[in-house]
Amino acid sequence: MQDRLIGGVRCSEVLAHLSDYVDADLDAATTERVENHLLGCPNCEHFGKNFGSMVASLRNESNTPEAIQADAISRMLSQIYQLGADS
Ligand SMILES: [Zn+2]
Repeated sequence: MQDRLIGGVRCSEVLAHLSDYVDADLDAATTERVENHLLGCPNCEHFGKNFGSMVASLRNESNTPEAIQADAISRMLSQIYQLGADS
């Protein structure tokens, strides 16, 4: 995956913040930078949508322990990185 600098942040930073972004745990300035990046970066926009819906579906299974959610998220992130490296 290309690590592009868009909206003042790199793809890798956006991906690192994505979990907190979906949780609305970021401060306003960081949220704005992530959103600006998503607007200008088709890769991250596409990934962000998939990521957001995956997190939402995990959350919908309300009896899923937090630890398992975090594990599933980090596994998915590493898969995405591997996929990006191949293309
Ligand atoms: Zn990006």
